[in-house]
Amino acid sequence: MRFPGVGLIVTYEPEELVMEYKRTKFRARCWHCGKENDSAAPANHTDEDAVPNNGDLLLCFRCGAFMVVDKDMPDNVHKPTPAENREIAIDKNLKKIYEAWLAHKLGGN
Ligand SMILES: [Zn+2]
Repeated sequence: MRFPGVGLIVTYEPEELVMEYKRTKFRARCWHCGKENDSAAPANHTDEDAVPNNGDLLLCFRCGAFMVVDKDMPDNVHKPTPAENREIAIDKNLKKIYEAWLAHKLGGN
């Protein structure tokens, strides 16, 4: 798999995290909406390792943008490259994660 920690979700408000995920402190500023996310949780229920590592993929809990963990960057993430975007687009697991996030956002309003 291209993204080792695929499907991590970052969130900025604990109460917005509906599912009982193990959360890890992690600052990630979203390249799309500019939100300062403050923690990460695995989107996959079976994933026990919630610590983001370089190359892992995050989903911004606020806007749904995907970002790649890059601890060498000031924001701890980078905007997916065209090559990474192509891999994101064909990943069925990511599609499911995105749809679950979208359903939560739409249902939570
Ligand atoms: Zn965002």
